[in-house]
Amino acid sequence: MKPAQLLLAYQRLVERERELRDQIEQVESLLASDPSVAHAEEAFASAKAAQQAITLRLRESDREREAHRARLRSREKELMSGRIRNPTELMQLNQEVDHLKVSFAEKEDAELRLMEEGELADQAVVEASERLQDARTRSASDEPNLRRDLEGWQSELAAVKADSEAVWAQVAPAAQNAYLRVRAHPQVAEVDHNQCLACHVTVTSSGMQALRKGQVVVNCENCSRILVIA
Ligand SMILES: [Zn+2]
Repeated sequence: MKPAQLLLAYQRLVERERELRDQIEQVESLLASDPSVAHAEEAFASAKAAQQAITLRLRESDREREAHRARLRSREKELMSGRIRNPTELMQLNQEVDHLKVSFAEKEDAELRLMEEGELADQAVVEASERLQDARTRSASDEPNLRRDLEGWQSELAAVKADSEAVWAQVAPAAQNAYLRVRAHPQVAEVDHNQCLACHVTVTSSGMQALRKGQVVVNCENCSRILVIA
């Protein structure tokens, strides 16, 4: 093989190596932590937290309601006891009892709404838990396939690495240096109809002549990639 063709073969192997490394990395991170499971876990935790917050509010609301009820009863008892004779005082107490009744009813309404919220929160926890279970089941059933893919890619990677080293060893040192000097990626570009396929600039006729002989490395005059006839 001519040096430029060897370099093209080398470049393709290096590209394949990179693809394989990316795939391996993705599968490894998926196996370490499946994002759909992690997401379902977060959703479940926040549904639980919301449920807990409502439980606490309900407990607090119960306590307040009982305190309120006790106060209302003691005032009513006082009103009925006949101990208070003064009409002004009686009227004031009566007003207070009415007021306590109204605010007690309001508290009860608020507590009912809170209980409804609590039911919704319970339902949300059940649903989030089901979704988490589904995500875990799906993840577990995907795992054998992922592990099989991973093993396949790992063994292909080992083969590709060995091949790319073998091809590189066949490249003459001058061509190796020429390749290493190219800053553009990928470093080797094919030429078709006298055009560099990477930058689409026409290759000079002397460049084409040198390319056809194939003894030396020819760089694109525009993008400086190493050229090889397609
Ligand atoms: Zn070019």
